Amino acid sequence: MSEHARLSASGSKKWLNCPLSITLEGYFEDEESSYAKEGTIAHALGELKLKVDLGKMTRSDFVFKRDALLKDLTKEEEKELENYTEDYVEFVTETYNKALANCEEAEILIEERLDYSKYAKEGFGTGDVVICDYDSIEIIDLKYGKGVKVDAFENSQLMLYGLGALEIYGDLFDIKTVKMTVFQPRLDNISTYEIATQDLLKWGKEVVFDKAEQAFEGIGECNYGSHCDDGFCKAKHLCKTYTEHHTQITKYESKHPSLMTDDELVNAYEIALSYDKWVKSLKSYILQELLKGKKLPGLKLVEGRSNRTFTDENKVIKCLEERNFDRNIYITEKLASVAELEKILGKDNFNELLGEFIMKPPGAPTVAKIEDKRPEYNSAELDFQDVEV
Ligand code: SF4
Repeated sequence: MSEHARLSASGSKKWLNCPLSITLEGYFEDEESSYAKEGTIAHALGELKLKVDLGKMTRSDFVFKRDALLKDLTKEEEKELENYTEDYVEFVTETYNKALANCEEAEILIEERLDYSKYAKEGFGTGDVVICDYDSIEIIDLKYGKGVKVDAFENSQLMLYGLGALEIYGDLFDIKTVKMTVFQPRLDNISTYEIATQDLLKWGKEVVFDKAEQAFEGIGECNYGSHCDDGFCKAKHLCKTYTEHHTQITKYESKHPSLMTDDELVNAYEIALSYDKWVKSLKSYILQELLKGKKLPGLKLVEGRSNRTFTDENKVIKCLEERNFDRNIYITEKLASVAELEKILGKDNFNELLGEFIMKPPGAPTVAKIEDKRPEYNSAELDFQDVEV
């Protein structure tokens, strides 16, 4: 498992805007999502390809490591990963060649530890690629996700990497600018931001230092913002600031809309935009807690609704064919549903002909108030894949 800094670069948007998030997140466990796993594999494969191309790894070593990395992927996943990492390698190679054209001693670092602890206590991260041509530094960051387009403009993660790269090259050469590029192949996104070295150092001293100090000591403010969701804050389900932001809307619900000022209306609209997301994530969190066996006052798990289904559609079709029902009645593109066929045939007829082919699967566990008449679900017997959020 890779080492992770408390004041991580990837989480910096969060702790720079909400220093207390570091302390609050400490109460929750890390859970690696399937997207994060996918990203880890893409980075590792990109690294192997770059190293073999640059002569930093033998071909046989590369083949051995690549095969081990891809062994659990489907053919389709593997193909996608191969293609996108090829694009990444091509982009890095082109950028490096341009740097070599400017300065034949230009250097390239792959997956290098970048230490910015001068600005944020114990802070470090891993830069995917750092290219230095003795006059400027370029950081390239591979983003394998395809959910949100990542912008390099004033991106604090990349700027912290920039500070870390200056720790390596800043005293050796007269670095005038630091360029940061996000390479996000699945969204066809290449985003670049360039900053003068002195401005980056100023940002490190004047913006990062104090916030990092507060975050590390657990004494800073708790502030709501886009960083709560974008930064996947682990504390958000129980965070009072996050909850207060979303419950402000109830203030306005009691008034007639025409009594709101324009500012209130716009504020309510902005809250409403993130309201659905908050409700969904809160429901999901409560469900997961109950599934783990936690007791929450006034709530319980019950079996959710489920729909009747056919045990074997082919047998249903055969049965109807044998009784010479017009096929157009019960099949359009696919076989009619249980409820539709019951309506077409009439309840008695339906039960007599097809009753033996009907089953009702157990409903997925769902959260209910304690007074709900349905019996409590035994979470120990649950299939965790099959839950209703
Ligand atoms: S949810 Fe937002 S406000 Fe709450 S701790 Fe996390 S980042 Fe801060």
